Amino acid sequence: MEPVKAYIGLGSNLGDRAGTLLQATERLQRLAIGPMRVSGVYETQPVGYVEQPDFLNLVVELPVVLPPLELLSRLQRIEADFGRVRDIRFGPRTLDLDILLYGDAYVCFSMLQVPHPRLWERAFALVPLAELVPSRRALGGGTISRRAERLRQEGGVRRVGDLRQAAARVSQAEMPHPG
Ligand code: ATP
Ligand code: CA
Ligand code: CA
Repeated sequence: MEPVKAYIGLGSNLGDRAGTLLQATERLQRLAIGPMRVSGVYETQPVGYVEQPDFLNLVVELPVVLPPLELLSRLQRIEADFGRVRDIRFGPRTLDLDILLYGDAYVCFSMLQVPHPRLWERAFALVPLAELVPSRRALGGGTISRRAERLRQEGGVRRVGDLRQAAARVSQAEMPHPG
């Protein structure tokens, strides 16, 4: 199989969010056949079910030779290892891994649709994705970066730095204060 670039959206809004994302990207790297690229980290307000903590989101580009359903099952395994319990749809979670894009492919199984069907309306996915593939076409015309910029203006999405900065900042904040 030829390598395909898969774009995975990561989200966390429970526990040590940045630490979870850092460890999850390390797990994702092990699924890849070459170096991955990682977007910045964004703090985002929940959409849909809004009575829950803010998320941290980012997107990675992963060169893989795994077929789409195999990739999905590997992602679900990683989610489970981070203690994700599936209860409230769109509800709080330690880790959510969505396949946003899989090369240029259109995938349509009952268990898996790619491009992710709600990608084009979601700033929390499209804004970090636009860092990695700004000039790619968005559904309905225009580039991903144009569409992301429009969604970003609606608010609710703030870049908090790169992944290592975000993870370091959290562990510093958790250090006991002297005195
Ligand atoms: P959303 O899909 O709107 O982001 P969610 O991430 O909260 O919602 P989950 O409970 O994580 O939804 O997943 C529900 C199901 O979605 C999964 O069991 C999976 O089979 C299916 N699914 C369909 N398309 C995708 C995709 N592109 N990436 C990940 N899961 C998908
Ligand atoms: Ca999701
Ligand atoms: Ca999901």
